[in-house]
Amino acid sequence: MKKHNFYAGPSILPQEAIDDTIEAIKDFAGTGISLLSISHRSKEFEAIMNEAEALFKELLDIPEGYRVIFLGGGASTQFMMVPFNLMNKKAAYLNTGTWAKKALKEAKGFGEVVEVASSADTLYNYIPKGYTVPADADYFHITTNNTIYGTEIKYDMDCKVPLVADMSSDIFSRPVDVSKYVLIYGGAQKNFAPAGVTFVIVREDILGKVERFIPTMLNYKTHIDEGSMFNTPPVLPIYTGVQTLRWLKKLGGVKEMNRINNAKADLLYGEIERNKLFKPTVLNKEDRSIMNICWIMNDEYKDLEQVFLKYAQERGMVGLKGHRSVGGFRASTYNALPLESVQALVDVMKEFESKN
Ligand SMILES: *Cc1c(COP(=O)(O)O)cnc(C)c1O
Repeated sequence: MKKHNFYAGPSILPQEAIDDTIEAIKDFAGTGISLLSISHRSKEFEAIMNEAEALFKELLDIPEGYRVIFLGGGASTQFMMVPFNLMNKKAAYLNTGTWAKKALKEAKGFGEVVEVASSADTLYNYIPKGYTVPADADYFHITTNNTIYGTEIKYDMDCKVPLVADMSSDIFSRPVDVSKYVLIYGGAQKNFAPAGVTFVIVREDILGKVERFIPTMLNYKTHIDEGSMFNTPPVLPIYTGVQTLRWLKKLGGVKEMNRINNAKADLLYGEIERNKLFKPTVLNKEDRSIMNICWIMNDEYKDLEQVFLKYAQERGMVGLKGHRSVGGFRASTYNALPLESVQALVDVMKEFESKN
């Protein structure tokens, strides 16, 4: 049976990227050596590293003055590395979910943290608006896509203080005006590569302004100066990531990707709203994520939740269970998920409705 992969992360990657990786594990770039055993300093791997940064710059139209680095430690390490490198006295955070809150918590170890707004009051089902960011904050941190709750900031905001964004789960899903941010980071395993690599896009002139000692490995400058080769980088996920970006470029880049992502999201939200059994958790349409789509049973059908999950699973739908803190269902519709998979899910939802 064909499987449709709706996992939230690690999650679906382009089949081409997986196939190319399998080949490279057997014989990397015609060297006769596996990707798993070749030196990261070989000219063949250095070419991959250079291509990774070049494709980031090209696909996201990254302006001059920014660098892209590839690190270990996941997005969660960035929760600490960002304040370590950027906070002198004060930073502002928007609390839009579990990940945002974790980032905020780490920052507290480095100075004063202002939570400018929070949507915790209604289980994070909207993006707060109308807040004020303190003008003396060293930076303002946002989480553009809230993977667990299915809300998303789908535009690049104007901000008077330096803007930092966790884009772990929506990078490459839409065009981004990188010039609005001083730093963008994310774990790879949602839209880019297998788990193990973290990307950081940073405007170089924002660095070197804090007074504290920064340990070598946690200092962005170390990795910029060494082209992400200060120590051994996560070779395999970087390789697969390059294949993902080649695939994305061939497909037409982030603008075309965004058109497809919107089509997928419209199709699924449309069915959730139409179907008598279901309702969306995010009511405000402009706050709805196009990457993680969350919904629950309508009250009178509550007892069918497990039944529907099983029904969908038996028809090849994988990873639809909502996060344990929200319940219900979540379909992650990342870049590599084809429209046909969303259509297949919609068909199953319709079929299930007709039986109930
Ligand atoms: C998954 C996720 C994280 C955590 O990433 P790790 O690489 O596992 O540390 C952080 N932020 C967001 C928005 C995520 O979706």
